[in-house]
Order: sequence, then structure tokens, then C-alpha cells
Amino acid sequence: MILRKSLITLLLGVVVVACSTNPFTGKQTLALVPNSQILPMAFQQYDQFLSENKVVKGTADANMVKSVGQKMAAAAERYLNANGYAGYLTDYRWEYNLIESKDVNAWCMPGGKIVVYTGILPVTKTEAGLAAVMGHEVAHALANHGQQRMSAAQLQQLGAVAGNVALANNPENQQIFNTAYGLGSNLGVMLPFSRSHETEADHIGLILMAIAGYEPMAAAQLWERMQAQSQGAPPEFLSTHPSSTTRIQNIKGWAASAKAEARKFGVTTFKN
Ligand SMILES: [Zn+2]
Repeated sequence: MILRKSLITLLLGVVVVACSTNPFTGKQTLALVPNSQILPMAFQQYDQFLSENKVVKGTADANMVKSVGQKMAAAAERYLNANGYAGYLTDYRWEYNLIESKDVNAWCMPGGKIVVYTGILPVTKTEAGLAAVMGHEVAHALANHGQQRMSAAQLQQLGAVAGNVALANNPENQQIFNTAYGLGSNLGVMLPFSRSHETEADHIGLILMAIAGYEPMAAAQLWERMQAQSQGAPPEFLSTHPSSTTRIQNIKGWAASAKAEARKFGVTTFKN
């Protein structure tokens, strides 16, 4: 009982000191595994993924992925700087790669490591559609959703192995990272985020795409096209990001305020 009590006290202590603020929502989030540890692991996994897959270079599509990616990164930087979070992206090493694959998928690892599969381009259809997908994925990274999933895994592990608490340099972190990101046996296959993280990523992504000069309503149209694709075998992207009427309605409801936010940055035209 005493052991249990001290463990709980210890856990609470850890949780209190290991919180970080989500700059987009102002919410306190769990960050037991610091980004200083997560980012190097992400960078390594990303490089490995690139070495094992066919990276498309120099085509119009590959250039579009890079150019939209750069605009989303610049939008994130502008938003964070304007909201008192200058330096938030210091450890980011943005990269945007198009991968030759029929899979309908895209993801962003912590630290701004983005992959878009050629298979998703017929669904994203326009530059704004691609911006919607990339904005959403970037938002997961910016909001540290993966980090929170890792922290939750850490807590579970701590619960299981009471007494052996070495959070900062836990040799199991690599394992937890792989589990949290669905890596390892299925490299690059992301696990689904929770519904609240999905909603948060939709909202943040919409603001980013508007600041980057894209019409936020294009995101609603993108998800409608995704939904239409879900007949038969649903694409990879939909298995981790289920499209729903609620999601589409939320996006439509936020579009005007996303544009209002963008106007604060002098953005007045929004590309479809
Ligand atoms: Zn998502």
C-alpha cells in the first residue's frame, strides 16, 4: 500500500513537471518523453523509410508537394511567432517527400518530416486539397499528438513496472516510440489518433492552410471526396482518419474563422 501510494505520488509529480502547453489550444498536454528524445528517433525512422521506398524527384507533383509543404511550414512559423511561441520550431527539420505508391496515404512525423504517397494525389486533386491533407498531418506534429501517445504508453509501462522509473533515459523509449507511431514491423504505417486529436488537427490544419493562402472550404471538399472513396476497400488514409459528416460539418463551420485568422497576417486571397 505504501509502495503504491508513493508510486502514485511519484507519477503525479512526474505528470506535473512533464506537461507542455499546446500553442494552438492553450491546453496543457502530457509530455513524459521530451521532444529532444523523440525528434532524433523520428529523423532516423524517416531516413530509413526514405531509403526503403521510391522517392519521386523533380516531377511537377514532387515539386508541388515541396512547395505546398514549404508554405505550410512558413504558415506555422508565422502563426507561432505571432502568438508568443517564437522558437517553438527550432528543432524542426522540415522535409517534404513524394513517395511512389498506390496507397492513398500521407503522414508527418515529429519534427516536420512529411511523406505524401502518389496514390493520394487523385483524391487531393488540387493544390488546396493537398494543403488540406498536409495541414492536417503537420497539425498532429505541431500539437505533439504522437508525444502524448508516447507519454500514455510510458504511463502504462510505469504502472506495470512499479519502482523502476527512469523516464528521461528509458532504454524502452525506442520501443515505445515505435509502438506509438506504429513503426517497426509496418514502417511508416501510422496508428490512428484519438477522435479529439483528429478534431484538433482538423482545426489547426485549417488555420494553417488559410494562412498559407488556401481556401479552407477545400478541406471540406477533400474529406467529401475521401468519403466517396470509402466504398469497398477504404484507403489507408481513411483507416487512420475516418471521414464523417461531423468532421465535414466542423470544417465548414470553422472555415470563416480560419480565413479571419489569415487576414490578420495580410492574407486576403485564398486559392482553391
Ligand atoms: Zn489525423
